[in-house]
Amino acid sequence: MNKKIAFISLNVDSIGYATNSYPMKNDPAFKIAIPRIEKILDKYNAKMSAFVIGKDLEDDSNIDVLKKLIERGHEIGNHSYSHYQNFAFLKDDVQSREIEDTHNLIKKKLNYDSKGFIAPGWNSNSFTIKKLVDLNYSYDHSLAPSPLMFLAMLKMLLNYVFNYFSKKKVAHTYNIKDLFSRKDYARMFFGKQKPYPVKNSYFKSKDKKIWVIPLPTKYKLSYWMTLEYVFPKFLVNFIFKLVATRSEQFYLLIHPADFLDNNDFNNLEKTPNLERINIDVEYKLNIFENRLKQLISYGYEVKTFISQYG
Ligand SMILES: [Zn+2]
Repeated sequence: MNKKIAFISLNVDSIGYATNSYPMKNDPAFKIAIPRIEKILDKYNAKMSAFVIGKDLEDDSNIDVLKKLIERGHEIGNHSYSHYQNFAFLKDDVQSREIEDTHNLIKKKLNYDSKGFIAPGWNSNSFTIKKLVDLNYSYDHSLAPSPLMFLAMLKMLLNYVFNYFSKKKVAHTYNIKDLFSRKDYARMFFGKQKPYPVKNSYFKSKDKKIWVIPLPTKYKLSYWMTLEYVFPKFLVNFIFKLVATRSEQFYLLIHPADFLDNNDFNNLEKTPNLERINIDVEYKLNIFENRLKQLISYGYEVKTFISQYG
């Protein structure tokens, strides 16, 4: 039997993005979070795939850390130019620019050919796939076929309402309007569960294909690190174990805010618009390292997407 394979997908949702002030000079997502993640990965000789927002590449202070990642065998992928949450509902020409501009920036600034994509909020459509095929991409992992995502969104709404009425001062990770202006709920219930190649007749060349790699699910349940702050611990543990022990492939989705806390923002005037930033960074680093250890103990080899799907 083939070894089970796990990927680490870092969606570099920068602090510049979260505070709508990007590109941000010396963004802590690049300067602090990425080195922290790498330090843990190095202990287990694991490589990750980091998906960047094009706008962040406009500032050269964010570039060095990415170049070093490439030198050390990590992968760089495309996470759109502006990170519009309603990505699949953008007009085709806008979506096209969002993908292509970032693709070109990665090439120009990092001298790297990006082959993988993830849409903001896993929100993609068939045009996304066509565009990625045109750009010679190998895979797209913008599919979360789990209603848990819908539940997580409901829970976030409840937290929001609760905090509003209790007048607790809490910064929010998400924009409520963005969350509920999505229209792709059907995919959360009916999307495919396993990686599959798309080989449509409308592609110019018949033998062109692209892999779609869904967030792994079991009984429609799925895990991504954000759940650690949304659901109770016992439930998250249960979901992680259920999915990770019964899948052949797994991807662990993480964000820079999982590796930063308020102490990293002494010089930042604006409060980062990120709820999980209030959670102690040591606690979060521990969660990540423990999940990584669990995956390895379940027999997974941790590698980049492109080393499997290139
Ligand atoms: Zn994102």
